[in-house]
Amino acid sequence: MAREDSISKEDKSNDQEGFAESESSMSLLQETVRGYEVSYLALDCIKTGESLVINECDAVAELEDILGQGTIRTTEEVKSVGQQLLLLQDQLKQVKDEKKKIIDNYTSERTMRKKYYNMVEDMKGKIRVFCRIRPLSRTEDAQGGVIAVEKIDDFSVSVDTPRGPREFQFDKVFTAEASQEDLFQDTNRLIQSAIDGYNVCIFAYGQTGSGKTFTMVGDKDQKNPGIMPRSFNAIFDIIRESSTKFDFKVSAYMLELYNDRLQDLFVSPAGEAHGQPPSHGQVRRVEIKRNRKGVVFAQGAETKEAFSAQELYALFLQACANRHISATKMNVESSRSHLIVCIMVDSRNLTNGSVSTGKLSLVDLAGSERAAKTGAKDHQLKEANSINKSLSALGDVISALSAELPHVPYRNSKLTQVMQDSLGGNAKTLMIVNISPSECNLEETLTSLVYATRVKAITNNAQRHVESKVIAQLKEVIIRLRSGQTVEDEDV
Ligand code: ADP
Ligand code: MG
Repeated sequence: MAREDSISKEDKSNDQEGFAESESSMSLLQETVRGYEVSYLALDCIKTGESLVINECDAVAELEDILGQGTIRTTEEVKSVGQQLLLLQDQLKQVKDEKKKIIDNYTSERTMRKKYYNMVEDMKGKIRVFCRIRPLSRTEDAQGGVIAVEKIDDFSVSVDTPRGPREFQFDKVFTAEASQEDLFQDTNRLIQSAIDGYNVCIFAYGQTGSGKTFTMVGDKDQKNPGIMPRSFNAIFDIIRESSTKFDFKVSAYMLELYNDRLQDLFVSPAGEAHGQPPSHGQVRRVEIKRNRKGVVFAQGAETKEAFSAQELYALFLQACANRHISATKMNVESSRSHLIVCIMVDSRNLTNGSVSTGKLSLVDLAGSERAAKTGAKDHQLKEANSINKSLSALGDVISALSAELPHVPYRNSKLTQVMQDSLGGNAKTLMIVNISPSECNLEETLTSLVYATRVKAITNNAQRHVESKVIAQLKEVIIRLRSGQTVEDEDV
C-alpha cells in the first residue's frame, strides 16, 4: 500500500512535472507560432498577391493545418519549421522570378509577332494605321478626368467599355507622351517613297478635338510642328542629299473641301466671289480626275512650284489663310472642312535620264462629331451634315474595300473621289486615327477605332511611276508641240 502510495506520489509529481514542462513548451510554441505568424501572413500575401486580413487564432489554426496537428513539440522543431518556412519563401521567390521571366518573354514575343505581322501586311500593300491618344484636355479633366483608353504595347490599345475591355491592334500606338518628332520618325520613310516616285497619302481621322490638326499641322504658334511642315523640310533635306544624282522639281496644289465643294486654296474666296481673276485668266472650277495610271489629280487647281521648304511653307500659310474656319463648342478653332495638301515631286535621274513622278497627299479631315454634342446651328448644321455625308461616304468606301465588294462607291462624294487612289488604289497610305483618352468620349472613340480597324484591312497596290528617258523626252515634245513651241531635232 505504502509502495503503491509512493508510486502514485511519484507518478503524480512526474505528471505535474510533465504537465508543467508541456505547459511551458506549449506557451513557448505558441509564442514562436505567433512569431512565425507574421512570416506566414507575409508568405500568404506573396503567394496570393493580396493583403490578407486574418486574426490570430485563424493564423495559428492555418499554420497547424499546413504543418499537421501536434507536429510542433520542441524548440528545435520550431526552428526547423522556421527554416522550412524560409526555404519555402526562397523557393517562392525563385518561382515568382521565373514567372516574371516567362511573362516578360511572352510579352516581348507577342510584341515581336505583331511587329512582324505588320511588316508582312505592309509588304502585301495593306494600309498602315497608327493610333494616337491625345492628352486629357482641361474640359475632360474638369468632368472627372476618367481615362477609358490604355496603350497595352506598341501595337495594341484597350478601351474600357460598359461590356468590358475591348482591344484593337494597329501598326503603332502613340500615347499622350509621344512627341511630334516620335510620330514623324515613323512617317519619314513615306516621304522618301514619294520622292522615289510613289503615290503616298497620309491622313488623320477622328472626332473634332481629337488632335487631327495637331498631328497634321501642329499647334498654332508652330512650337510643335506636325506632319505637314515636317514633310516640307524632309522633302528638301532628301533632295539636297541626292542633288548630285537627280534633278528635282517640287510643286503643290492645296484644296479645301467645304460643303462638298472643292475650293482652290491658292485662290482667295473673296477674289473669287467678286469675280476677280485668281492670278491669270478666269475663275476655274476644280475637278477631280484620274490619269491612266489611276493617280488622282485636281484639274483646274493652281499648281505652284517651290524651291525650298520655306517657300513651300509660305504657300501653305497662304492656303490656310483662305480656309473657312468656324468655332464650335467642341473645339474653338475647329476647322469645318477637309484640308488637302498635294505635293508633286518630279525627279530626273542624271545617270540614265529616267523620270519619276511622286505625289504626297496630306489630308486633315474635318471632325466626325454629332451635331447635338457640338451645338452647331443653321449653316453650321449644314456644314456638319455635309461633313458627315462625306465621312459616311468615306465609311462606305472603306466598308466596301475591306469586305472586298466588287463595287466601291467612290463617286458618292468629292472626298472619296479625292482619296480614290489612296484607298484601294496605287498609293502607299498611312491613316492616323486620333482619339481622346477620356471616358466622356467613349462612344466616338469606339466608332473611330472600329473604322480604323476596317481601314487596316484594305490592300493597296503601290507602284513607282518611272518613265524611261525616251518616253520622258517624247512627252516633253508633245507638251511643247501642244503649247505651240518649236521642237529641235536634238529634243527627240
Ligand atoms: P482636331 O483637329 O481633331 O479637331 P485639334 O488638333 O485641333 O483637334 O486638337 C484639339 C486640341 O487638343 C488643340 O488645342 C490641340 O493643341 C490639343 N492637342 C491635340 N493633340 C495633342 C497632343 N498630342 N499633345 C498636345 N496637345 C494636343
Ligand atoms: Mg482640326
